[in-house]
Amino acid sequence: MSDLHREGGFPDTAPYAALWGCAAESLLGRSAAPPDEPRDWKIASDRGCGCEHCAELRAFCDDPDAKVARFPLREELRRHLEMIIRTRRLDIATVTERKGRPYTLVCTKNRAGHRRRLAEYAEDVSHMESLVRSAPGGAQAARWAADLARLREAVAAHKPAERGRA
Ligand SMILES: [Zn+2]
Repeated sequence: MSDLHREGGFPDTAPYAALWGCAAESLLGRSAAPPDEPRDWKIASDRGCGCEHCAELRAFCDDPDAKVARFPLREELRRHLEMIIRTRRLDIATVTERKGRPYTLVCTKNRAGHRRRLAEYAEDVSHMESLVRSAPGGAQAARWAADLARLREAVAAHKPAERGRA
């Protein structure tokens, strides 16, 4: 949008304003407000494969207070759980503790999904800042004033989130 905005006269046209509005709406739809901080350690998970070990893993995911779980299992079953965690993109880090028999798969929940969402949000905010700078002009300005105001609010809402991270 900022490249188009530099074209003389183009920012005053309806096609430019339509493109700008489309970008504004999609960014506002996703990132008008900072992502919520996770309130507990619950991880959304589906049914897994239906075996007893997946059931235990699911109970661990559902438990809002449990951060670490230990699964003493033979190798193929440890691999099975690691595969489930990887393919379902669960926010869980795994380490195999190599003492005793069988070895223990230690699963620790993390905030990887939330960190990805924060990064996406920060990127959306910088796109919104750029939209604020390249807002439609001329006859189109009044028509898009409400979206521009919402973009300014969304950019301002980002500042407390940044302070919270510092
Ligand atoms: Zn299973």
